[in-house]
Amino acid sequence: MAKERIVITGGAGFLGSHLCDKFINEGMEVICIDNLLTGNSANIEHLFGRDDFMFLQHDVTNYIHVPGRVDYILHFASPASPIDYLKLPIQTLKVGSLGTHKVLGLAKEKNAVFLLASTSEVYGDPEIHPQAEDYWGSVNPIGPRGVYDEAKRFAEALTMAYHRYHGLETRIVRIFNTFGPRMRLGDGRALPTFIVQALQNENLTVFGDGTQTRSFCFVEDQIEGIFKLLFSAENEPVNIGNPEEISINTLAREIIELTGSKSRIVHKELPVDDPKVRQPDITKAKTVLGWEPKFSREKGLRITIDYFRKVLQKHPTVNYL
Ligand code: UDP
Repeated sequence: MAKERIVITGGAGFLGSHLCDKFINEGMEVICIDNLLTGNSANIEHLFGRDDFMFLQHDVTNYIHVPGRVDYILHFASPASPIDYLKLPIQTLKVGSLGTHKVLGLAKEKNAVFLLASTSEVYGDPEIHPQAEDYWGSVNPIGPRGVYDEAKRFAEALTMAYHRYHGLETRIVRIFNTFGPRMRLGDGRALPTFIVQALQNENLTVFGDGTQTRSFCFVEDQIEGIFKLLFSAENEPVNIGNPEEISINTLAREIIELTGSKSRIVHKELPVDDPKVRQPDITKAKTVLGWEPKFSREKGLRITIDYFRKVLQKHPTVNYL
């Protein structure tokens, strides 16, 4: 029997490349689409040459042509770290809006199940804590983060419209902070920045007083949650993340300890509209998908630190966008 075929946009990115591996391991044929703006071909080079893997370098805001049958589409293309979308505001808005429209069009044409990578950013700087899926969020549409938050909110609205109006089978995952191997060392987020700083014995730059909180999910747990959601019948958004919440100060201290670094913590100005708290309510994922995270933060951090060490040995200079 012919293999099932899955299209993964943003497939050369951090999460996208882990999804390429996951679905190849599940026996599917993977078509990875990426324009390599923030993605990196090094994340998928181990798949080149396989007959169950195809890479198309393409910007999904333009018409997408994929020959043959497609059974599933995962739409993960987008800049995703705050400094990326501050530097690429128009591309971020375009990929969330025009790009999502094109990818939904492809899903409708192929009658494929469509899954949107959404984000905890749809909750903005939340007034409700922890955040459950029925909270509508508190987003500043014209603030610097608005380009990402509003693009993803629009993408959710468009996905639900294709579901309700065209009867397309759709899924929406709201991804909370996730980390692990293949994160870009220079993507500017707190966790990779702190690991690089600690490994290079430089000061760790905590923004603001560091009491703001986040909840960090290891990539393997995240991928398993997305996998379960795809094969569920849930059309409405589902949070996937690790509910263990810590302050950014605590994260910085843990990374200094686990790397055995001599680095110290310094404080820098807090960016505009930086959310003060963030913690997923994962009741829905537990009840509907039977999913919950299994990796402790310590275990995930140890694996990630090992990966960062190896990358830094090969390329000691970190590239920022
Ligand atoms: N942050 C920090 N130092 C850095 C980068 C980020 O203290 O070098 C802070 C940032 O202001 C935020 C938190 O760490 O409060 C998490 O930021 P990140 O960029 O990882 O992603 P976010 O969760 O805000 O999307």
